[in-house]
Amino acid sequence: MDYALQRRALLAEVRSGRTGVGEVCDASPYLLRAAKFHGVPTDTDCPVCRKESLIHVFWVYGDEIKHMAGSARLPRELETMAQTFGEFDVYQTEVCRTCTWNHLVASFVMGHKGAQAAPRTRRRAAK
Ligand SMILES: [Zn+2]
Repeated sequence: MDYALQRRALLAEVRSGRTGVGEVCDASPYLLRAAKFHGVPTDTDCPVCRKESLIHVFWVYGDEIKHMAGSARLPRELETMAQTFGEFDVYQTEVCRTCTWNHLVASFVMGHKGAQAAPRTRRRAAK
């Protein structure tokens, strides 16, 4: 899933003043910390403050990954996890460490079961 449209609409609201900057620049200390230690730098300028390049953080969720659920992972760690686990969800978030703008970029499923493109219900039942 792609969140580009949602992002554009939100940024348009900020520029027009309908939505306050404080409402969208609300990255939690946890997210900012994740950006610092597990973030992937990009070449894209922050759309709000334009002072810093955005950092992408990949959050992982899922029953299978147990204690790893809800943690931030680097892309190379995601690759390793995809070989180990059948299925888990990844939420890619962009964050600016200067003004604390943050938004969901994309969410997708990873894991070696995903490659077979089997229906979700059958995958669950096969566990
Ligand atoms: Zn910013």
